[in-house]
Amino acid sequence: MSRKKAPPERLAPNAIREGDEVVIDNPICSVCGLGSKSRVSVMKYYLLIGGAKIDDVLFPLKTSYQKQLMITGIHGHCERESN
Ligand SMILES: [Zn+2]
Repeated sequence: MSRKKAPPERLAPNAIREGDEVVIDNPICSVCGLGSKSRVSVMKYYLLIGGAKIDDVLFPLKTSYQKQLMITGIHGHCERESN
C-alpha cells in the first residue's frame, strides 16, 4: 500500500510545509538584499513558532552559519565583507 505524499501546504507567510519538513523564508540579508531559506522538521518548526530559542531547537543539527541565517538573514560571506 502506498501513501500519497501530501501537497505542499502554506503554514505562514514565510513557511511552507513539504511532507515532514517545513521550508522557512529567512529574513532578507541587510548587506546584499537577498533572501535565503532554511529547512527544518515539522516538529522543530512548531517549537520555533512556540517561542523556543533557535539555538536550543536546532542544536546540534545546524551550523552557527545556518542559525545566523535564520535569525538575521545575513549570509556568512556578506558578514565578512561588511567587517
Ligand atoms: Zn547577503
